[in-house]
Amino acid sequence: MRGTKLPGQGFICAYCGFVNHGGGATRLRDHLGAIVGEVKQCNSVPRAVRDAIKALQKSTMEKKREKEQRKLRLERDLL
Ligand SMILES: [Zn+2]
Repeated sequence: MRGTKLPGQGFICAYCGFVNHGGGATRLRDHLGAIVGEVKQCNSVPRAVRDAIKALQKSTMEKKREKEQRKLRLERDLL
């Protein structure tokens, strides 16, 4: 992932130079992926990068959901 990590918290975006104080890799991802959150989205990130981050985010969320469902199923089977 592009971007410069600031000492401690925060980052500088390598594409648009946006400086965010506070937050780390997650905020940078939200910024580059134009994911609605606490950080404004990037206007200079290449589309391919943004799409890749969005896809990654989606698969992470799907994996999380899958895990929760598996846990629920397991609990149901046991009770
Ligand atoms: Zn940016």
